[in-house]
Amino acid sequence: ASRFDGIAMAPPDPILGVSEAFKADTSELKLNLGVGAYRTEELQPYVLNVVKKVENLMLERGENKEYLPIEGLAAFNKVTAELLFGADNPVIKEQKVATVQGLSGTGSLRLAAALIERYFPEAKVLISSPTWGNHKNIFNDARVPWSEYRYYDPKTVGLDFEGMIADIKAAPEGSFVLLHGCAHNPTGIDPIPEQWEKIADLIQEKNHIPFFDVAYQGFASGSLDADAASVRLFAARGMELFVAQSYSKNLGLYSERIGAMNVVCTSAGAAARVKSQLKRIARPMYSNPPIHGARIVANVVGDPALFNEWKAEMEMMAGRIKNVRQKLYDSLCAKDKSGKDWSFILEQIGMFSFTGLNQTQSENMTNKWHVYMTKDGRISLAGLSLAKCEYLADAIIDSFH
Ligand code: PMP
Repeated sequence: ASRFDGIAMAPPDPILGVSEAFKADTSELKLNLGVGAYRTEELQPYVLNVVKKVENLMLERGENKEYLPIEGLAAFNKVTAELLFGADNPVIKEQKVATVQGLSGTGSLRLAAALIERYFPEAKVLISSPTWGNHKNIFNDARVPWSEYRYYDPKTVGLDFEGMIADIKAAPEGSFVLLHGCAHNPTGIDPIPEQWEKIADLIQEKNHIPFFDVAYQGFASGSLDADAASVRLFAARGMELFVAQSYSKNLGLYSERIGAMNVVCTSAGAAARVKSQLKRIARPMYSNPPIHGARIVANVVGDPALFNEWKAEMEMMAGRIKNVRQKLYDSLCAKDKSGKDWSFILEQIGMFSFTGLNQTQSENMTNKWHVYMTKDGRISLAGLSLAKCEYLADAIIDSFH
């Protein structure tokens, strides 16, 4: 007998578990559209050239491995907030942003969740239905209550804007409203600018606190500014807000775990106090964050020539995903004789497409066609090549009918 016999086997993670099943499949046809990681047209992982260049520079300089401060690398914290809000944003000039380096998007969200649990014990977090699967885990583990607001309309495979507004309106005053800054995961459906304005109006009216999750800045549209427009719109209204950032996708730094938590406050004093408490939460959790990814970001963003190289590579990645999206749409239209309207595929943005396939149909994709994807019907276009679009279209049409 083991003292641990009372510990049951945990279920596999619904997203990362897909990659494990993919590895075990021996078919040559197999396609992994589960996890959201960028692949080349040859379906190989991709390290950005600008990252390799900066890593060589770092090695030449012989930098040390001393501990970072609890809040992370100062040069990183500076550029990450500037990238998000724009360097000349008054919130930065007036020192109203509390920024701490986090363990990528997930770790930054987790820090903020701990802050909510500690200082807003009455508040709940509103999250979209559906959302990235890990959001619920993060708030559950931080013991922060959450509920869902309507977001996706299966009839149109589009945004249920009326439902979203009604649910945010019905929530108790002072709730946190989790919003995806751009390229909503898993649906790929974003509010249009006029809708963002209405969402901001309502959040202000209800005294809610917006909480942005920005995992795809620059990676969704190819433009760092366009992808930060939602956050900047809220900040320009003088609202207090939370923003978690990630460099997993836009710089391809998945395993370096580099991101940040930003809290915009209405005064520099409040920002300083919030930052001190974020550090207090981080210290017993992981003490201080890793340096490597922070240095990469600080060097790339801090050097005009390297910054431009990064932007060109980001445009290239976003462009490849857009090409694949178009080819998949064309293939579906050419092959499908049912008259189904596939235009929703072109309206979605970012690395994912929400196909509208239900769980049984998604299982058919995997079991019959060796296409690995999450059971909610989400496919990662970043894991698709132009060469595989026709095969995927056959699989989707077969699974729908
Ligand atoms: N939020 C969203 C919406 C995401 O899609 C992701 C990555 N899949 C993350 C946060 C966090 O990823 P990471 O922890 O690698 O930054």
